[in-house]
Amino acid sequence: EMVSAEEISVSSTTGSPPTSKDAIINLDHGDPTVYEAFWKRMGERGDIVLPGWQTMSYFSDVSNLCWFLEPEFAHQVRRLHSLVGNAVVDDGRFIIVGTGSTQLFQAALYALSPPDAAEPMSVVSAIPYYSSYPTVTDYLRSGLYRWAGDASTFEGDAYIELVCSPNNPDGSIREAVLSSKNGKTIHDLAYYWPQYTAITGAADHDIMLFTVSKSTGHAGARLGWALVKDKDVAQRMTKFIELNTIGVSKDSQLRVAKILKVVLDMYELPGNKHRLFEYGRRQMSMRWRKLRAAVKASGIFSLPEFQSSLCRFTGEETETYPAFAWLKCEKEGVEDCESFLRNHKLLTRSGRHFGVEAKYVRISMLDRDETFDLFIQRLLSLR
Ligand code: PMP
Repeated sequence: EMVSAEEISVSSTTGSPPTSKDAIINLDHGDPTVYEAFWKRMGERGDIVLPGWQTMSYFSDVSNLCWFLEPEFAHQVRRLHSLVGNAVVDDGRFIIVGTGSTQLFQAALYALSPPDAAEPMSVVSAIPYYSSYPTVTDYLRSGLYRWAGDASTFEGDAYIELVCSPNNPDGSIREAVLSSKNGKTIHDLAYYWPQYTAITGAADHDIMLFTVSKSTGHAGARLGWALVKDKDVAQRMTKFIELNTIGVSKDSQLRVAKILKVVLDMYELPGNKHRLFEYGRRQMSMRWRKLRAAVKASGIFSLPEFQSSLCRFTGEETETYPAFAWLKCEKEGVEDCESFLRNHKLLTRSGRHFGVEAKYVRISMLDRDETFDLFIQRLLSLR
């Protein structure tokens, strides 16, 4: 049974929350609108004004390897990692800005694939992997690289392994599963922020990808950044972005620089209530508590369990509260959980897209409160 575009349009994606008991609830995408309430409370603190004559040049800083990187944005990124302690940002490391981490992921594939190899480089990730990895890797049928599936069963010496931690879709804390002298890794740390998991140390990998989509919630700014150790790799990633889009929106970089500055300044004022990561952690832990209670009451689903760890950012022991619920349908006779839920007007993403069985679905935990609460009610109505 298909859902029409009009029906989908009543869902959360348009900005008007579904209200009626049988409205369609769309939790297929990881749209981070949970953060809107926080930014509304911040009032005009996050605003910027851009005069008509500004941000006209293609160039931001010609003395920087990444010549389209706005210095103020780079400054706030360094400040942010220093505060949170989730990644090493020493002076030797290059910051490359991208139109979302989606562009940086492609830039990294380009940078890590030898230009003159006889065969495309194999791109792998352990199941369940983020559903965009195979599609984004293969949509242009590149001669440089090719999707090769599950990293756990990959045999070969040359590869690019994508490591997402905490993992989209299942929230697991991950490390590379492969190791070889010719193997490369890209660490996608989109969710390595205190609202989702304990910050157990400063990550120090060759290529690390981050995005504002999941840190501050500004997915629409389409802004991500990569921390890159190797100069040649950083240069090739920059080249990719030059060829692909001749740089990255300066307007977005300046806007996000302001957003990050607001977040960071709030940590310098003692006793401040407006702290993004505390807000996020509170929301996520509350939502996970509600979700676990509903799943238990339903009796037909299960969820992954997570260990607690000491978060060095907050100094507290904390669980992982993933941005997605990785729900398994345990109901007798139901093999396709996505269809089962769609019949109850709950739109989710099938495990198939993540390289596993259709008994699993991924459900966004980042929508607005009204949508999330409707989702919990809907789950409780299922038997
Ligand atoms: N990596 C992961 C693991 C993600 O979940 C997402 C967003 N769904 C992205 C990358 C893409 O982020 P961006 O919006 O910065 O392109």
